[in-house]
Amino acid sequence: MNSSKIIDGKAAASRVLQQVKTDVQRLKAEGIEPALAVILVGQDPASQVYVRNKVLRAEEAGIRSLEYRLSVDTDQSQLLELIAELNDDVGVNGILLQLPLPANIEEAVALQAISPGKDVDGFHSENVGGLSQGRDVLTPCTPSGCMQLLEEACGDLSGKHAVVIGRSNIVGKPMAALLLKAHCSVTIVHSRSADAKALCQLADIVVAAVGRPRMIDASWLKPGAVVIDVGINRIEEDGRTRLVGDVNFDSALPQVSAITPVPGGVGPMTIAFLMKNTVTAAIQQAHARQSPLNSSPSEATCLSIS
Ligand code: NDP
Repeated sequence: MNSSKIIDGKAAASRVLQQVKTDVQRLKAEGIEPALAVILVGQDPASQVYVRNKVLRAEEAGIRSLEYRLSVDTDQSQLLELIAELNDDVGVNGILLQLPLPANIEEAVALQAISPGKDVDGFHSENVGGLSQGRDVLTPCTPSGCMQLLEEACGDLSGKHAVVIGRSNIVGKPMAALLLKAHCSVTIVHSRSADAKALCQLADIVVAAVGRPRMIDASWLKPGAVVIDVGINRIEEDGRTRLVGDVNFDSALPQVSAITPVPGGVGPMTIAFLMKNTVTAAIQQAHARQSPLNSSPSEATCLSIS
């Protein structure tokens, strides 16, 4: 196996987290303690694991974490009340609402209630719109992590043809926007695409975010393509439960110039970028407090963090 082709997401995430840690120390020296509020509604087992991991990573990075565990019968107005309190709390820089929410709460309404400046998941329409305009806004964590991996694997992405498989609001669409911002030519394919495979065969870069185990094998890929596998699929195989991606890794490996494994590829980057977004939000808010009339996010980031 050619291990030099395998993109090490764990190592990349640990570099991002190390930088976050350094930034947090510098902010603390300036009297700013970044804080992340995590809200979990209900008892979904997978969500509980995700929340636990996020809180642990935050603590490791020196970010103060506040956990709000609400019962499954919480109604929408109670959740909106909590979000409003956290929006107003200057001691809270980032708010993460763990998805999925129970059926009685409208996800779009709850996400839209989070102040855009504290929206560390980048799901608020103001941030979504800002991203599509190519502005520096808080950007969804998984696509941001994929971009970092791509830039490390390929260098300049300008002029490359990228195919994103999947058009969800949390992965596919923001991924396509980020690739466009990096001057790629971008094709998005989805379940209604006439010939997803033929489009994929033209790609220099393939980002798979479908949720179908091992759907993409070597026959979908141009020789030398770079493949980012976002998929996380739990399957039963050889009498045990395994996590596999949307890409058939063993089939794709000889065909590609670089590929992320599952697990150990994109997954660790998602959480690292959540911490990075929390620090960015803390800097932007501190800057807005100091000079409320001149608080463009990109300027704010330049001010405190090199
Ligand atoms: P969604 O189910 O929201 O979206 C899946 C997308 O795939 C849809 O746009 C759908 O098209 C498209 N699709 C489905 N079947 C096909 C097909 N046969 N050919 C082409 N496109 C198809 O999933 P998410 O975007 O939320 O997640 C995708 C995967 O990424 C999942 O496995 C998820 O677990 C994983 N994930 C991993 C993360 C990480 O940190 N590594 C974070 C988030 C997600 P259509 O819109 O037409 O239905």
